[in-house]
Amino acid sequence: MDIVVSWPKKNDLTFINKLYKVFSMQKLVQKEIKRLTKLGASYVDIRVHLKDISETLSSSDGLLEHYQIEKRFGFGVRVLYNGAFGFCSMEDIKHLEQASNLALNQARNSSQFIQTPIELIKKQNHQATYTTPTENHPEKVPLKDKISKLLSLASPLADKKFLHYGNKIGFYDREIYYADSEGSELTKSIVDVEAHLYANALDIDGLLQERTYNLYQNPNTSVGFENLSNNQQINHGERLNKELHELLKAPLCEKEVCDVILLNEMMALQTHETIGHALELDRILGYELSFAGGSHVALSDLGKLKFGSEKLNSFADGTTQCSPGTNGFDDEGVKGKQVQLIKDGILQNTISSRQSVIEANQKMNQNYFIESGGACRAQSYNKLPIDRMNNINVAYGADGSLQDIIKNTKNGIILESPKSWSIGSNRENFHFACEIGFKVIDGEITNTVRNSTYRGDSLPFWNSLDQVGSEETWQLQQVFYCGKGQPNQIMRLGHGVPVCRFSNVEIGY
Ligand SMILES: [Zn+2]
Repeated sequence: MDIVVSWPKKNDLTFINKLYKVFSMQKLVQKEIKRLTKLGASYVDIRVHLKDISETLSSSDGLLEHYQIEKRFGFGVRVLYNGAFGFCSMEDIKHLEQASNLALNQARNSSQFIQTPIELIKKQNHQATYTTPTENHPEKVPLKDKISKLLSLASPLADKKFLHYGNKIGFYDREIYYADSEGSELTKSIVDVEAHLYANALDIDGLLQERTYNLYQNPNTSVGFENLSNNQQINHGERLNKELHELLKAPLCEKEVCDVILLNEMMALQTHETIGHALELDRILGYELSFAGGSHVALSDLGKLKFGSEKLNSFADGTTQCSPGTNGFDDEGVKGKQVQLIKDGILQNTISSRQSVIEANQKMNQNYFIESGGACRAQSYNKLPIDRMNNINVAYGADGSLQDIIKNTKNGIILESPKSWSIGSNRENFHFACEIGFKVIDGEITNTVRNSTYRGDSLPFWNSLDQVGSEETWQLQQVFYCGKGQPNQIMRLGHGVPVCRFSNVEIGY
């Protein structure tokens, strides 16, 4: 295993103790995996979260509103016995044997009732370390600096005309050790940073209008406190202020059928709801029916379904750097990879795990899937990993900048920032409301539009994709609160998306 350590300073007992504890823990985990295997387990994985810290700060109307730091640690044991899984998690590693016995017993009991034994597709085993590229680790930044950054980022939104304004920043910091009975042994140090801005006010009709902004990432840089000083990514307060003022007196979105140009935040939502959730293999297999819903996609559609126009290329990409959807390896030890979900408009693959691809192959009566998509993820050590989005990206195209796309548009609307969303439970259709719209006539923006909405059926909508922005329009958007599973798990992930145009879309309904 590649472990990089800097030599401790003289008499640095804390450091030596910490190192000793980590090595003792690893020995304990390896011993426990061997013991469970001897007791009949056909597969075991153990995830230990040595550190799991969430730190969030928010401001309201120029004042610090909320500060919270949550520090957790613990471990989860997953055991496969006679075709059934058992899972148990606890906090103190000294209870590892007790938790393992509970997981094994649960698997033994379940195996008496299981109809189709669970199998896991083969994977490559790795002994490796993954670390999020970070320049200024949030842990090393004094709280007073975090508070002053929070307040300064929101200050351009202070305005007498607004009801409220404010923001939130969040830092997530994890140290994870993973080992399984097949020989994989991984350590991960993961950092995520989120930031949101908002301002709201009453419009000329007394209706509430709001503008918000979410921090995106640049895959070629790093993730840390430095993200909050990057002008390109974070200084959006003045823009939001101006846009909210325009929105308050703007005309309402009229009902019509026209071209729709989605900016990055809307493209991220569109991709998330109608590509991401629709292509989770467990949903396609029917596992989420009683909670998040199913999918209009059938296994028989793979390799054939014309999901979108030929300009649509989409990936489940576990390798996108600097994204909250990238952890190096998923939670069953599969190395992050780039899986092409849709190629030139045709459906190719799904978001999958080692278990779901075997079950899909059995139902399809063929080995369509040759490996896991590397997208089996858990919210934390105390949750069972399930099929989850990592980075569901849309590849950029060759249709130029946003300005180029506007110039090519005769009658359309530019839409940005989700306000509300309603989606068919099988992701077959959708209706989204946006915070702001900009009407485009004959290649130019004519005015801001209030209460803009659009709707569509997922497949005809993606088939109407007729302009895909070039690389300069591509942005890595972050999602911090995607819910799925029973018990519910909230996951962090990414969407790298370009600006796109769709033709003949119903707006204002
Ligand atoms: Zn979601």
